[in-house]
Amino acid sequence: MVTKQFQNITLSRLGMGNMRLPILPGGKDGDIDYEKAGQIIDYAMENGINYFDSAYVYHSGQSERFVGQALRRYPRDSYYITTKYNVRANPDYRETFAQQLERYGVDHIDFYLIHALGDNNIDDYLHNGCIPFFQQMKREGKISYFGFSSHASPEVLARFADAEKWDFAQIQLNYFDWNYGTAKQEYEILAERNIPVMVMESVRGGRLAKLTDEAESLLRQAHPDWSIPSWAFRWLKRLPMVQVALSGMSNLEQIQDNVATFADDRALTDEEEALLFRACALFHDQVRVPCTGCRYCCDTCPAGINIPEVLKVYNSFKLEGAWALNGLKNVEGGMPWDCVGCGACTQQCPQNIGVPQLMEEMAKAAGK
Ligand code: SF4
Ligand code: SF4
Repeated sequence: MVTKQFQNITLSRLGMGNMRLPILPGGKDGDIDYEKAGQIIDYAMENGINYFDSAYVYHSGQSERFVGQALRRYPRDSYYITTKYNVRANPDYRETFAQQLERYGVDHIDFYLIHALGDNNIDDYLHNGCIPFFQQMKREGKISYFGFSSHASPEVLARFADAEKWDFAQIQLNYFDWNYGTAKQEYEILAERNIPVMVMESVRGGRLAKLTDEAESLLRQAHPDWSIPSWAFRWLKRLPMVQVALSGMSNLEQIQDNVATFADDRALTDEEEALLFRACALFHDQVRVPCTGCRYCCDTCPAGINIPEVLKVYNSFKLEGAWALNGLKNVEGGMPWDCVGCGACTQQCPQNIGVPQLMEEMAKAAGK
């Protein structure tokens, strides 16, 4: 396992995320399968991973308790635990912090984060008194390093980054969001301020573990022996401010593959990065529907479906997974399962989009 110095300690470059642990058959999110998940933690410890990420809300509040128990068999100074304060989940930061120490069964948290900074909660975090409280906990030795995780816009991220002296920050960073999101700007904001970056969503919740056939074949031709997810991590190794790349590993195969990727520091070359970005563009174009939002189709739909808005949800669904179908709740008018397959929309569509098939696909995925 390759490591990297962080202040006066050494961290593994691969970190274990604990929000996608195996759960018991038929169980809910909080029903972690302690045996299976414990095997993953043991494999992590045996293979040099020493950074374990969690949060107050992960697995309905059960993640911290599980991680604390799984790591208790190892010396406390052989691993680093993280957790986060989430103002929406429980605004009472004192109570949250006390609960977290109890759940983990420890007297200090190594890496503590303000959780999921966003454009709509920055003022809560800046003005509710939590930051001075956590700084006090740091002075008392109950927190070793203080940082934040962000899903905010680059402007808000910059504002928050300048509000305090942060030890580190955690952002969503992967080659897809570098090309099609704001990850590059976010990384540069942190790099300019010399704030080490912990990476979340290295493989975008698993979405970058399986690309389209064409995109994958480009990568496999170049390196038949590399797994598809390993490209994401090897790309991250190019970025000098990246401290730890987190992966929410749900089974032994995933952790074995990731540990193999971090057996050395070999990053992608410039040529390999260009190839990866070509594969990424192919993947992006193949999964997305190229609706321009012109609305030529809308007046003709007998089901009253707001087709361009529904197609935006379709694109999220293809990139993020079935949970993104929740976005349909925010769309007024008919739903995909109201489509009668008349094809009037496609006749009007300058992009020649096969709308009825997409509606059917969404309806099926939604169980309608
Ligand atoms: S095929 Fe479906 S979405 Fe298209 S116009 Fe007909 S009912 Fe509306
Ligand atoms: S006509 Fe085609 S491109 Fe225009 S809004 Fe409808 S689906 Fe989208």
